[in-house]
Amino acid sequence: MFAVISDVHSNLEALQAVLDDIRSRGIKDILFLGDAVGYGPDPDDVVKLLRKHCKVLLAGNHDWAVIDYTPVEYFNEYARKAVEWTRDVIDNETFEALKEFKLIKVLKDKNLFCVHSTPKDPDSWNYILTLYDAEINFHYFEQQICLIGHSHRPVIIERLPTGELLTYRDSTEINKTSRYIVNVGSVGQPRDGDPRAAYAVLTDEKVEIVRIPYDIKSTQKKMQRYGLPKILIERLQRGM
Ligand code: ZN
Repeated sequence: MFAVISDVHSNLEALQAVLDDIRSRGIKDILFLGDAVGYGPDPDDVVKLLRKHCKVLLAGNHDWAVIDYTPVEYFNEYARKAVEWTRDVIDNETFEALKEFKLIKVLKDKNLFCVHSTPKDPDSWNYILTLYDAEINFHYFEQQICLIGHSHRPVIIERLPTGELLTYRDSTEINKTSRYIVNVGSVGQPRDGDPRAAYAVLTDEKVEIVRIPYDIKSTQKKMQRYGLPKILIERLQRGM
């Protein structure tokens, strides 16, 4: 049994709530799929916690923008402001740690392919939003399951041996003959209309999306204090 988290975006309260829940289930194996920073108020503490608890650490587009591996022009105005703010406030340890985050990770023992955006073009930061996008990407990894984040919208996509695609919102059994793309959602800035933190728990038999409430107001207060864009503060309580 293991847990998969993604898109924490410097939201310490959400990350702590999720780590508490993972611990309460007795799970020790945690994979992180990228976007540790950007948007939220606690980049240093979040990166420290992720490095302490996760055995896989992947990079997202925000992580790469902060360390200048992805041009900041790629971002909308508000995301860019948060990237620039993050760059200004992080300590050297966080900066150096972000450089070590990888683009993809294959876990042979678990038959898993892990990436922030898409297996097809991991550093182009494209999205898998439609079944058409999913079908294309099923041809770019060989493992049974591909784990992704990036869109902040959790979904489980099953590809039957016939090629038919099925989707699930909350959970599904894992069939030995099927393959899967699992978007584990976002810990720190959900965008599916549910403001609770999202992450995934996987066993050999089952994949489940878990939702965890956290203290949104505390995160918002810090963002206000640091002058982060209002739209980023308000979207946390809407989960959009
Ligand atoms: Zn993200």
